[in-house]
Amino acid sequence: MEFKQYLPVSREEMVERGWYYYDFLVVTADAYVDHPSFGTTIIARLLESEGYRVALLAQPKWKDTGDFLAMGKPRYGVFIGGGNIDSMVAHYTAAKKRRSEDSYSPGGRIGLRPDRPTIVYANLSRQAFPDTPIIIGGLEASLRRYAHYDYWDNKVRRGILFDAPADLLTYGMGERATCEIARRLAKGEKVETIRNVRGTAFVTKDKDACAYKDAVECPSFESVCADKMEYAIATRLEYEEHDPIRGHALLQRHGKEYLVVNPPQMPLTTAELDRVAELPYMREVHPMYDALGGVAAIEEVRFSVTHNRGCFGGCNFCSLAFHQGRMITCRSQESVIREVEAFTHDPKFKGYVHDVGGPTANFRHTSCEKQKKYGMCKDRNCLSPTPCKNIDADHSDYLQLLRRLRAIPGVKKVFIRSGIRYDYMLEDKKGEFFTELVKYHISGQLKVAPEHCVDGVLDYMGKPHFDVFEKFWA
Ligand code: SF4
Repeated sequence: MEFKQYLPVSREEMVERGWYYYDFLVVTADAYVDHPSFGTTIIARLLESEGYRVALLAQPKWKDTGDFLAMGKPRYGVFIGGGNIDSMVAHYTAAKKRRSEDSYSPGGRIGLRPDRPTIVYANLSRQAFPDTPIIIGGLEASLRRYAHYDYWDNKVRRGILFDAPADLLTYGMGERATCEIARRLAKGEKVETIRNVRGTAFVTKDKDACAYKDAVECPSFESVCADKMEYAIATRLEYEEHDPIRGHALLQRHGKEYLVVNPPQMPLTTAELDRVAELPYMREVHPMYDALGGVAAIEEVRFSVTHNRGCFGGCNFCSLAFHQGRMITCRSQESVIREVEAFTHDPKFKGYVHDVGGPTANFRHTSCEKQKKYGMCKDRNCLSPTPCKNIDADHSDYLQLLRRLRAIPGVKKVFIRSGIRYDYMLEDKKGEFFTELVKYHISGQLKVAPEHCVDGVLDYMGKPHFDVFEKFWA
């Protein structure tokens, strides 16, 4: 039987393992939940699976470097993640009021991480380990990689690397980039020469340091601050080039320096996604939080499965495509079934699979074949204002997966609680999926998002017109 254990979180636990040195420190702004729904946990487990010694530092105190130094200096580097949710969203309501609970912290306690932890932790890591490579990643770093409007400050902020003194930033789905960076650092390469990894960004004084000679320059930080049209041009370029097949590297000048954002990584293949999903997670909150009331965020995901990544919906107000990309990849049916089968042996499992979803539950393959060769279309969305004629809306693979999950002994119900794209579902003329969705997979409420009822507004949002929702409703 496979022996599983949590990653070490203290010097004592390292010594128990007989470690007198370790390779990578992984820092997270969330509590340590050893579950594949937590991005930093995935990165830490992935590094472990590549043979490195990895220690985990969750929610360190940030008044001084004490917690960063507590486990000693890592041999190769520090990876920092700002948590599953952008810290400002985690801390404040849309009305900019302080939230009273943080479901990613033990006991729901607020105040266990700073605002903008990626910046704070990178500064502390630099103080603690001046010569050690620092890599920031995760949602906060990824979505703030370029100069961006920040709602909380009500101003355009610099790309996060100008505030967080890291050597590299990984954006999007970071597994491949992380493995390559780790491998090169472990071989003794200087972090300053790691300039050509897809899905990473860095700051340089010399724009020729960009390894991609067909790089495109977008309006500078100064121009996007001064002129909204320049901001719009920069944003458009950033979205257009975020394509793993046809995307270019982008440069953005900030004062006398350049932000270089290399082209995105290809999405993980099915086999790679399976491997990542099936690393030896404990699927539990670390026991150090038991006395503090546990970590509520596990409850939503404990018996849920993520079967896909990416979203070709491409709604104009949503940042998901800018992080995970528009190209869908998915896990194999067998891998999802193994995960659910394993639930059935968990004493807490009562027979209900809470979700078989992802960014959009009913996307289980690329929206068309063409994009596999040419990339996603630059100039149109797959589903709005009307579905593209090339769209492949066949739901049979998802349907089959759900049928197989329902048949697992011990499973009473399989719910879909991630949102579905009903406009995409209506394009599947067989209608079988809709029938079974209604019959077996709705746990009280089906989540759909028409977003608005005025077509002009929906056009700005990149959503289908309201008559599509009315058709679905009827
Ligand atoms: S051809 Fe159509 S379905 Fe394919 S990427 Fe372009 S818009 Fe999407």
